[in-house]
Amino acid sequence: MADIRLIEELTNAFGPSGFEEEVCQVIRKYTEGFDVTNDAMCNVYMKQKDFSGKKPVIMLDAHTDECGMMVQSIRENGLLNFVTLGSVHVTNLPAQRVIVRNGEGKKVKGIITSKPVHFIRGTKADSTDLSIEELAIDVGACSRQEAMEVFGIRVGDPATFDVSFAYNEEQKLCSGKAFDNRLGCACIIETMKALEGHDLAVDVIGAFASQEELGMRGATVTSQVVRPDLAILFEGSPADDFYFSAGLAQCALHRGVQIRHMDVSYVANPVFMKKAREIGDKYGIPYQSTVRRGGGTDAGKISLEGKAVPVLVLGIPSRYVHTSNNFCALEDVDAAVRMATELIKSMDESMMNEILRKDLWN
Ligand SMILES: [Zn+2]
Repeated sequence: MADIRLIEELTNAFGPSGFEEEVCQVIRKYTEGFDVTNDAMCNVYMKQKDFSGKKPVIMLDAHTDECGMMVQSIRENGLLNFVTLGSVHVTNLPAQRVIVRNGEGKKVKGIITSKPVHFIRGTKADSTDLSIEELAIDVGACSRQEAMEVFGIRVGDPATFDVSFAYNEEQKLCSGKAFDNRLGCACIIETMKALEGHDLAVDVIGAFASQEELGMRGATVTSQVVRPDLAILFEGSPADDFYFSAGLAQCALHRGVQIRHMDVSYVANPVFMKKAREIGDKYGIPYQSTVRRGGGTDAGKISLEGKAVPVLVLGIPSRYVHTSNNFCALEDVDAAVRMATELIKSMDESMMNEILRKDLWN
């Protein structure tokens, strides 16, 4: 079973896009004994312990950043105007608790402004035409000077939701923030630990990518550095089980790992998808298949790198991603780790060649 403390520390870490340092530190803490390095934009590379440098390379990708905010300007009355880092809908913001990290690294508690009922009564509720420009982060200051001098806030300071992880032992449910995509980060670490000591036909590198929410920027770099032959990508994917009937839902809690045929950013390699399903069936790992109408992942970048890289996207159903509070089932995290682990263990030259379509003329 996945390490709950690892998921707790990863999801609690402060890490809006472009400010992923804390997440990297948690990754470092839980990967003792591995060769772990980073680059200037906080991408982190984790090499398997007996990495040979001579075998085909499988890259495990997950992004480290979460959707957050950045202070855009400071109003005369001390409220902080902000922009979002990544795609957060305006209706998910009012009255949320946030943390702003100031230039000294101090975390300042804030609340996103909202209008209490006393000021709405008798007038038309204005949530329908709300805009980000009207909202602000309130840190409790009463003037611009106080916000800057007492709270140490400056234009450009990052912020994210102030939410702590909790685990319901009885139902094996996790709640917290940033499940998209700290769950994926946990899956890389768990998969690489599960593969330890196995004689593999491939070399495995974990690549933790920054700034995915701003357009897959970290993975643009990691895929060029690693130059993988194949990649497996983990994502905290948006659960849809409350919006569709059981038969139509494709990302339901407790229904296992999600394998993705396509989204706006890529179309999956059909042979890789077939192999994943075969592994699921063989080892009794629950999986669900999806064809996304929207969305996009690092697969959009990785799959187009170099000589074309088949990417398998494994999703962990997560309710309410890109908002402050998420739910996921631990068994779905485990299903993703098992799927990746068994697939890599069973990878041999002929499977690799099949996925790479070397048999196309045969
Ligand atoms: Zn994501």
